[in-house]
Amino acid sequence: MVLLCHEEAANMTSQQELVDNWFLVPEEHDDLKLCAQIRQMAALFLPPAKNIKSYTILPTTGCNARCFYCYEKGTKPVTMTADTADKVSLYIREHRGEEKVSIRWFGGEPLVNAKVIDRICTDLKEHDVPFRSSMISNGYLFDADMVHRAKELWQLKRVQITLDGTGHTYNQVKAYVYKNVNAFERVLRNIELLTAEGIRVPIRLNVDHHNMGEMAQLVALLHQRFGANKSLSVYSRVLYGERTQEESALLYEKRMQLEQQIAANGYGQKQKLQKDIKLNCCMADNDQSVMISPSGYLGKCEHYIDREFYGHIDSLEHNETILRKFKERPAEIEACATCPCYPQCVRLTMCDNGWYCTPERQKERIYNTIEAMKNEYELWLNKNENDNENDDEAEI
Ligand code: SF4
Ligand code: SF4
Ligand code: SF4
Repeated sequence: MVLLCHEEAANMTSQQELVDNWFLVPEEHDDLKLCAQIRQMAALFLPPAKNIKSYTILPTTGCNARCFYCYEKGTKPVTMTADTADKVSLYIREHRGEEKVSIRWFGGEPLVNAKVIDRICTDLKEHDVPFRSSMISNGYLFDADMVHRAKELWQLKRVQITLDGTGHTYNQVKAYVYKNVNAFERVLRNIELLTAEGIRVPIRLNVDHHNMGEMAQLVALLHQRFGANKSLSVYSRVLYGERTQEESALLYEKRMQLEQQIAANGYGQKQKLQKDIKLNCCMADNDQSVMISPSGYLGKCEHYIDREFYGHIDSLEHNETILRKFKERPAEIEACATCPCYPQCVRLTMCDNGWYCTPERQKERIYNTIEAMKNEYELWLNKNENDNENDDEAEI
């Protein structure tokens, strides 16, 4: 990113630095071609991935909630045994090389089988494997003891928890298997316990037309309860589902208003500018990542928890066709040719979430890039202010 004063901006073509650093190119320049060439070249220089450092582990595909939108609905719940857990930690020890390990606990609801998490973490600790973990959880099963264990033994740094609305809506949507409990209140208490231990909690608000109207109230309620809390952040996502173009556009407008309210309450997620050339999309096309199912199967994407496996922890054989399938990219769409996000946009054909693009998705990506630029600018201003203060002190 480059900052220009008014005079420089009025006479850009005379700024050689802008030409040398590719901010300015001739109008007929083929940006897309250059981008493809740079990606190819950067990929050639990438050292081959010998080790696996990122492990998404599913202790179970069972869950204590019954969300109507769950994409795992209908799959048979499978729970990891102690024997498989031992083999999983051995697999990690044998495949990490010298890398620090990053574990992501996923499910179903990972806490339904917390003893497997204890077992794997204890083994890694006993073998001096450096690791840290994060989790996607509905947050219901935490209590003070477990939060303490999560911090000390699991090295848990971050738990993503979803809220589907204020109390009544949340309890209805989650439809927990327990009777006569106020699940909403319990999850809020657990968020309090987690953040008090310094474990970061990004709260995901799943929005659609049925609950959009009460989300502003939910954000206000969170602010009333948690106040300024550095360990807490909030963001919103639209639930999957078929919508007309008008419905999608309306939902997007409302969601952007919600995001502004979230930011005003101090819970916004700071967007960062991507500084490297983006060569892959996610764990699915990253050779240093693996997903391990409760039965020990090796997969590439958390949306394929019972199929499209490329191997097993008990075997050295890998299905290269499946690995290649997860790297396939869909064709570019017309809008890509003039989209400012193009150089950093990588989509995968196998991705349920993002193989397609919509005008709203494109708008949101552009919005996030602009927010990231503002953050970068703010950082630069603060750094300059600090430097000036230090200079003043030195002079005194
Ligand atoms: S909490 Fe997550 S895993 Fe459980 S039913 Fe809801 S969406 Fe599915
Ligand atoms: S955001 Fe959409 S339009 Fe832009 S480059 Fe990505 S796929 Fe293409
Ligand atoms: S759902 Fe999409 S983004 Fe997520 S892991 Fe799978 S391929 Fe990657």
